[in-house]
Amino acid sequence: MSDSFSIAQIIQPHLKELVPYSSARDEFQGEASIYLDANENPFQDKYNRYPDSDQHQLRAAASSWLNISPDQLLFVNGSDEGIDLLIRAVARPSLDSIAITPPTYGMYRVSAAINNVSVIEVPLLEDFSPNVPGLRSVSSKIIFLCSPNNPLGSLVSKEKIVKIGKEYPGLLVVDEAYIDFSDGDSSITLLNELSNLVILRTFSKAWGLAGLRAGLLVASKEIISVLRKMKPPYNFNRAAEIAVLDKLRELPEVHRQIILIRSERTRLQKALEALASVKSVFPSEANFLLVSCSNSKGIYSWLLEAGIVVRQRARMLYCDNCLRVTVGTPNENNQLIERWSKFV
Ligand SMILES: *Cc1c(COP(=O)(O)O)cnc(C)c1O
Repeated sequence: MSDSFSIAQIIQPHLKELVPYSSARDEFQGEASIYLDANENPFQDKYNRYPDSDQHQLRAAASSWLNISPDQLLFVNGSDEGIDLLIRAVARPSLDSIAITPPTYGMYRVSAAINNVSVIEVPLLEDFSPNVPGLRSVSSKIIFLCSPNNPLGSLVSKEKIVKIGKEYPGLLVVDEAYIDFSDGDSSITLLNELSNLVILRTFSKAWGLAGLRAGLLVASKEIISVLRKMKPPYNFNRAAEIAVLDKLRELPEVHRQIILIRSERTRLQKALEALASVKSVFPSEANFLLVSCSNSKGIYSWLLEAGIVVRQRARMLYCDNCLRVTVGTPNENNQLIERWSKFV
């Protein structure tokens, strides 16, 4: 039963006894009028104080947004930091493996390689759904699913997530970097059912904060407490903290942009499908379109000559002759369509 899952069973042995760094503000909590405990510059400025290592205000704000307990949340320096923390928590270098489902996001593999952890590939099936028996038959410490998938744009059903996660003795990570653009809802609702589930969210895509590095990890209290001990004490910087708190106060504005991007996605999809050099456009639950072309290299260069950069994805599974195009502003999308339509 996944109910009997405890991260204590798989945490790397040397981390069990880890004593985390104790910051000045861990030692003293509360309000004071004079702070002489952290060797900061005393002159008041936007950034002269260390950020809150405990992320108290952030977790409280995200807790009301996601309707989940604050002790199930951990802010990370981009979800890429979350991926690295998860691998280091449970995968022993040169002994353990993680499982990924190609085609998928590249950082799982890179982060595993940096940590000397091997990668088992269990490709998505032709309908882009995960191979459940395949994933369950290999021995891995973590399974990384990406939903909506990058680069396919497809969702993994909750039913499949439950099938994969139930009784799996490792961590099941669902990377929801693009969920804000999707019709599907977050797997956060599955946390009660799957105690080994970890959800990765990011403020880099729909939330417009890619330049600040702001990610969020959602999991059981027990998993979060292990990762919290491991994280660098000040991993979430003050500028990112201010920006995320602002965004969480301006949810209607965030949603307005998402609605516009989604309607542009539909418009761009139709316009591209009408072009002779486009074979098909994959349905997308994200803020990009994967476009199957007659000649992806030629189109790539043709667009680049006009200063428009898209992403070559042709070497990935199921992506023969495909380009991945991010949905831009209406004006940018018009320029893309205009230029692409002149390709012969
Ligand atoms: C872009 C992307 C991320 C990025 O995360 P950061 O929070 O910017 O580190 C994570 N996962 C997927 C699938 C992505 O495409």
